[in-house]
Amino acid sequence: MMPLLSEQARGTVSLVGAGPGDLELLTLRAWRRLQMAEVLVYDNLVGPGIVELAPPQAQRLYVGKSAGNHTLPQDEICRLLVRLAQQGRRVVRLKGGDPFVFGRGGEEMDLLLQHRIPVEIVPGITAALGAAASLGFPLTHRDHAQSCVFVTGHLKDHTIDLNWQALAQPGQTVVIYMGVTGLETIASELQAAGLPGNTPAALVYKATWPQEAIYPTRLRDLPRTAERYGVKPPSLLVIGSVVSLAQAWSTRQAL
Ligand code: SAH
Repeated sequence: MMPLLSEQARGTVSLVGAGPGDLELLTLRAWRRLQMAEVLVYDNLVGPGIVELAPPQAQRLYVGKSAGNHTLPQDEICRLLVRLAQQGRRVVRLKGGDPFVFGRGGEEMDLLLQHRIPVEIVPGITAALGAAASLGFPLTHRDHAQSCVFVTGHLKDHTIDLNWQALAQPGQTVVIYMGVTGLETIASELQAAGLPGNTPAALVYKATWPQEAIYPTRLRDLPRTAERYGVKPPSLLVIGSVVSLAQAWSTRQAL
């Protein structure tokens, strides 16, 4: 059936996960959408070489964010996507990791749908999975962790208000996104909630990027480790006995 004229003119938006950084960790669908993009809206967690996969004539709009320093506020990004789609263009909104894991993809999707703009979600490998693969430890393991939680260490009002009791459970891997600036609080609250200070932990800076750096430590030493090595965002914090299984720093060089 022929599409109605109004539908022909209507643009679309793909919310595409760019994965944790390494270009090879893109999904095939993400790669295809990039190749078809007329406009690319992306931010600073998108790994090297990925933006270049869009056709040279595609318009590229950087709306990058780093903690507290938003190039474009989120509501303006949402409105920009609506405007571009209303111009009848094929828009790819490229986000680090997965668009639905701490990626504000939900907010963008809502506004687009309110404007009856067709939206598609292309999942990506979230940073926690990239980091676990890079470190070479499993997030769950029958002898170590029966559950794995992803939490944010950064709330809208810049406070950290997590359910510390729930996070301090034994047999659990805790991955904290955006947690580097709150390390003191995280380490002391988890210990106060009963997690032993010698629980293995790691800070992972830019997992799967060329600049990747991994700092294995213990829960109680997290703030000291971060300070000593000057660990900055974007970094993940992984806490749990699975971290002791990490193989990466001994084997990866051999590959
Ligand atoms: N949607 C993204 C998360 C965005 S929130 C995802 O699914 O991965 C931003 C936070 O994610 C950063 O502050 C950092 O904690 C984490 N992060 C994203 N990419 C990372 C990477 N390659 N290495 C380590 N942490 C990363």
